[in-house]
Amino acid sequence: MQIVNAFNRQIVIAARPTGDAKLSDFRIIKQAVPSLRDGEVLVRNLLISMDPYQRSLMGNASSELPPIDLGQPMSGPTVAIVEQSRNGNFAIGDHVVSWSGWQQYGVTDGSDLMKVDAGAAPLSTALGVLGHTGLTAWLGVTKFMTPKPGGTFVVTAAAGSVGSVAAQIAKLRGYRVVGIAGGSEKVRYLRDELGLDEAVDYKAPGFQRQLARALPQGLDMLFENVGGSMFEALMPHFNIRAQIVINGTIAQYAHPGVSPGPNRLPELLKLVLYRFIEMRGFALPDHLASYTEFLAEVGPWVSEGGIKYSEDFVDGLENIPAAFLRLFDGRNHGKLIARVG
Ligand code: NAP
Repeated sequence: MQIVNAFNRQIVIAARPTGDAKLSDFRIIKQAVPSLRDGEVLVRNLLISMDPYQRSLMGNASSELPPIDLGQPMSGPTVAIVEQSRNGNFAIGDHVVSWSGWQQYGVTDGSDLMKVDAGAAPLSTALGVLGHTGLTAWLGVTKFMTPKPGGTFVVTAAAGSVGSVAAQIAKLRGYRVVGIAGGSEKVRYLRDELGLDEAVDYKAPGFQRQLARALPQGLDMLFENVGGSMFEALMPHFNIRAQIVINGTIAQYAHPGVSPGPNRLPELLKLVLYRFIEMRGFALPDHLASYTEFLAEVGPWVSEGGIKYSEDFVDGLENIPAAFLRLFDGRNHGKLIARVG
C-alpha cells in the first residue's frame, strides 16, 4: 500500500517532569510519514504498550537509562502491521512487534522487529503475557532464582502485568505465593482468580500487621517491582539465604536522589551479611535470546488457562498520556495497552 500525503501523529516528550509525570509533559504532533530507503520497513501501529520504565525515559528519574531528547516520541513496544517494505525479511501485511513507540507509523531497519502469528493468540498478548512483560516475569522466577520448592515467594505490584504472571509461575513451580497490591479489588483478584495463597493490600490500615500474618515463616524469595517503603516493609521478613530479585522500583522512578526519612541502608547491609541475602537485578533487553524458550513453556500454560492475564485497553493515540499516568497510582488493571489502528 502506498502512503501518499499521510501524516504520522506522535506523542513526544515536551518537558522533563520534576517528580511525577503530568499531562503537560507530553505533546501530540503531526509529521509527514517518511519515505523508505533500501533495507527499511514502514510499520503502522495497531496496539501500543505503556510501561513504567517510560517515566525514566522522560528524564529527572531514578534510573541509569538515558532520557529521550525533548521533542522526540516516547519509545517502546508496539504491535504493528507492515505497510511498506524494502527489506526482504518483511512483507506487506506481516504482523510484528516493533519498538516504534507512541506514534502511528514507524520506520525501522527491521532489527527491532519480531514477527507475530496473528492466528496463534490475540495480538495484544504479544505486549503482555506472551510478550515483554511475561518474559520479564518468567526470567525473574526461573532464571534468576535457585529453586526452593515449598518456600514462601512474595511478589509486589502482584496484580500488575509482570507481577501477576510472576506470581502464577511461582505457584506453578510449587511455592507458597503471597502477593501484595493496592486495594481490595486487586487483592480479591489475586486470591480468588489467580489462586495465590495470600494477598495483602498495602493501602489498607494495618498493612504491616497483615503482612506479618501472611508471612508467618518469613520470605524465601522476593520478586520486587516496587522498591521504596514497600521494600523496607519486607526487609524484616527476609529468611536466611532469601533470594531477592529487583525487577523494578516503580515507587522510586519519579524521585531521584536520597529519599527522606530514616536511613535503612545499615539494616539492609546487616541482613545481607548475617542472613546471607542474595540480591540481583536484571534488564530484559539483555535476555531477549530466551524468548523462544519462554514461549515454549508459558505459551501452553496461557492457552490452557494455567496462567490467566488481564488487559486494560484505552482507545486512541491522544489518550495515551493520561492512561500512562495510571500506572503510577495503580488505576491500571493488568497490561495497559492503547488501541490505535
Ligand atoms: P504494572 O504492575 O502493570 O503497573 C504498575 C503497578 O505498580 C500499578 O498498577 C500499581 O499497582 C503499582 N505501583 C505504582 N506505584 C506504586 C507505588 N508508589 N507503591 C506501590 N505500588 C505502586 O506494571 P508492569 O509493566 O507490570 O511493571 C511492573 C514492574 O516491573 C515495574 O517496576 C517495571 O519497571 C518493572 N519491569 C522491569 C523490567 C526489567 O527488565 N527488569 C521489565 C519490565 C518491567 P497497585 O495498584 O498494586 O499499587
